[in-house]
Amino acid sequence: MKVVVLGSGIIGTASAWFLNKAGHDVTVIERQPGVARETSFANGCQISVSHAEPWANPSAPLKILKWLGKEDAPLLFRLRPEWLQWMWTLRFLRECLPGRSVRNMRQIVAMAEYSRQTLQAVRAETGIEYDQLTRGILHFYTDPKEFRHSLQTAKLMREFGCPRESIGADDVVKIEPALASIRGKIVGGDYTATDESGDIYTFTTALAAKSAAAGVHFLFNTTVTRLLSEGTGAAAKITGIEVINAEGRHQMVRADAFVMAMGSFSAPLLRPLGIDLLVYPGKGYSATYAVTRPEAAPTVSLTDDGHKLVISRLGNRLRVAGTCELNGYTRELNTMRCEAITRRARELFPDACDYENPGYWAGLRPLTPSNVPYIGKTKFSNLYLNTGHGTLGWTMGCGSGHAIADIVSGCQPEVDFVFTGLPSLQQSQVNSSHPARV
Ligand SMILES: Cc1cc2nc3c(=O)[nH]c(=O)nc-3n(C[C@H](O)[C@H](O)[C@H](O)COP(=O)(O)OP(=O)(O)OC[C@H]3O[C@@H](n4cnc5c(N)ncnc54)[C@H](O)[C@@H]3O)c2cc1C
Repeated sequence: MKVVVLGSGIIGTASAWFLNKAGHDVTVIERQPGVARETSFANGCQISVSHAEPWANPSAPLKILKWLGKEDAPLLFRLRPEWLQWMWTLRFLRECLPGRSVRNMRQIVAMAEYSRQTLQAVRAETGIEYDQLTRGILHFYTDPKEFRHSLQTAKLMREFGCPRESIGADDVVKIEPALASIRGKIVGGDYTATDESGDIYTFTTALAAKSAAAGVHFLFNTTVTRLLSEGTGAAAKITGIEVINAEGRHQMVRADAFVMAMGSFSAPLLRPLGIDLLVYPGKGYSATYAVTRPEAAPTVSLTDDGHKLVISRLGNRLRVAGTCELNGYTRELNTMRCEAITRRARELFPDACDYENPGYWAGLRPLTPSNVPYIGKTKFSNLYLNTGHGTLGWTMGCGSGHAIADIVSGCQPEVDFVFTGLPSLQQSQVNSSHPARV
């Protein structure tokens, strides 16, 4: 089949790789001059199955209220006169109910775990190097109340099969000695030895190069402007997509099947077709520093719970990322948020990096209210979704790519996840946070 993938972040690129392996003739359409130039460019770089607890959990509403209006808040809602944002927010509040939050977590752990194994298989097959470290993820706490809460989350994660072990403060520093300077402030932690880290941009560009060598066509500098459809009911299908090509001309691209993987930009393009995805951009920041004293910089990937930051060592660089602002599609850098990241990095590892020359970046997480992505079929027989991976697109990327290739090829994916438009292996559709058909 001729399959067109829309978007070449980690999700579109992984989809293209697996679609090609399944024997399809694949073309990827991307508005940027290369792959992974938007949200998949400079994120936190964690492969974190252990972070399956969505932001929408029972403790979130109170915290968000407390943070309202605070410029440096970890999660900041800027309410706008926007239908999507309001619908998203109402749904987010619903997903905070304990039962829903646990159901969402189960979905995320299943896809994240499958994806980690898929990433390991791709790594073994291709030999791609991306500053990967398989030293686990260490989550440390400075607030006793948050640490107490984490004991329950860690227990739940273990019940789901993720080995997230709660540990004392001394063990935190034993696992990552670079945290010694703040030992007095740490009250505990948890450690998931099976988690990983690595540079998403390096991986995605290398996977795209391997895909191109295997026959995938990449059309860069090409912007999708709309999807065209015909028919109704079971006969409804996409006939083609309209793009503005690299020469600036309108052009129609036709194919047998289309996979939507445009991250935060998937929702506005699908709305005219009557597909209302609740995917809203959550702006996050990262700072990248050159490591000047390697022995003083961490090698275990870290999560600083108090500041809601994740930290990954990428060879001779240190990446610190986090915070979220729900404020439309702007990627403008807020100086106050950038400086807060550098202040904290300097406090944690005072002599490790060159903090005078940070590389700041902002990207838009494609957030669903539940953090469960939309993967699967739609009401158009040849249109598929692989979008809305929110805070965990790198973690769930390879698995989502494999799963969508299976679905396009008419096979049931190997992971028990509630795909849109497909019965799941074990669970009832009623458990899904998304409608079965979109
Ligand atoms: C600060 C921050 C830290 C993060 N840390 C982590 C982490 O540690 N671990 C983790 O698992 N995840 C993390 N994430 C989330 C992860 O980065 C995202 O979920 C993931 O990158 C989303 O990938 P994507 O392919 O869906 O979207 P994108 O990477 O945004 O790709 C979508 C592509 O579609 C293209 N596109 C859009 N519109 C059009 C159009 N009209 N025509 C043509 N092309 C178009 C874009 O150019 C883009 O290349 C983080 C995100 C942020 C912002």
